[in-house]
Amino acid sequence: MNKKSSSGKSIAPPLAFSERIGNLLVSCIQGLKKSMSDDDPLSKKLKGLEGVVRKGVRISPSTELGKEIEEYFDRQILRHEFLVEEKKIVKSMVFEVVNTIKSLVSNSSGFETNITKCVESIESADSIQDIVKLKDSFIGEMKKVREDSRSLHKELEELRKNSVLLAKKLEQSEAQALVDPLTNVLNRAAYNMKMGQMIHEFKRYKEEWALLILDIDHFKKFNDEFGHQLGDKVLKSVAGTVRNSIRVSDQIFRYGGEEFVVLLSRVNVEIASQLAEKICREVEKDYFVHGEKKLKVTISIGGAIVTADDTELSLFERADKAMYEAKNNGRNRIVMDL
Ligand code: GH3
Ligand code: MG
Ligand code: MG
Repeated sequence: MNKKSSSGKSIAPPLAFSERIGNLLVSCIQGLKKSMSDDDPLSKKLKGLEGVVRKGVRISPSTELGKEIEEYFDRQILRHEFLVEEKKIVKSMVFEVVNTIKSLVSNSSGFETNITKCVESIESADSIQDIVKLKDSFIGEMKKVREDSRSLHKELEELRKNSVLLAKKLEQSEAQALVDPLTNVLNRAAYNMKMGQMIHEFKRYKEEWALLILDIDHFKKFNDEFGHQLGDKVLKSVAGTVRNSIRVSDQIFRYGGEEFVVLLSRVNVEIASQLAEKICREVEKDYFVHGEKKLKVTISIGGAIVTADDTELSLFERADKAMYEAKNNGRNRIVMDL
């Protein structure tokens, strides 16, 4: 029977000591059971023990201490679940990072094996503390990859610089190989290339152009009388004068010795004749000082207009024939092949 307090309210009689201990034991057993899986053999044993204790004691609402014990176990379980969840997140993050790096760095020697080991260790790690320890070796691996990619970057940069240099040198040497060093105009190799291209283009676009052959008159005699050195000056000067007399779209080549070729684009025979005549007169205007004397040189020009039947050789031969005609007609003149 319940006793009454001084205020008249009835209060529960104090539990017997053994009953209180029994209640606490049940709380402990329940807490322990919660923290382990159902198929754990210890869990079955605890269940049996709980049954025995429950039979012996009356289960009353939890005491303060009983509640604390239950709460403690609940906290432990929650913490455990949280750690498992956290471990899963860390693992998936690591896998993602590793896969991204694998796809970025194909040539990171040893990286894949080391990082795989790292991930395996994380898989078998039981606590976040273990994972935190593994973090250091993971970061170490990452540093190595960063160094690798830095040196790779440096190598690529070097390669890029070298290839730019190489391209420049190639361009220079190619340009040098096409320019005549004495007169600074394009040489025979450049002429061969350009002629091939222009014959091909004429067949396609049907735009007429002319080939002129220029030959310095009595140049052997000039060299013999005034010296080879002055002869060289004349060659340079004639090349310069011709280059300054033609349009930007036209080109002059040193074909060999004291012979030059000029290619005049988009001209008919009349225009080509006028341009050839102009070149002749410009060369005639120049003079060269030798002691007290002012020396002059002249040139003879033979020209031909390209036709559909022409090859590089046939066009050259027609212009060459015309040039010999100019020589035979008294030099310092032009003759066009008609
Ligand atoms: P023509 O009026 O019939 O053309 O007579 P030419 O004396 O000019 O003709 P020829 O072919 O007999 O002689 C060409 C001369 O050009 C021979 C050579 O002394 C001179 N020559 C060729 N190349 C060079 C060179 O690079 N420098 C110098 N100074 N002379 C050269
Ligand atoms: Mg000649
Ligand atoms: Mg000559």
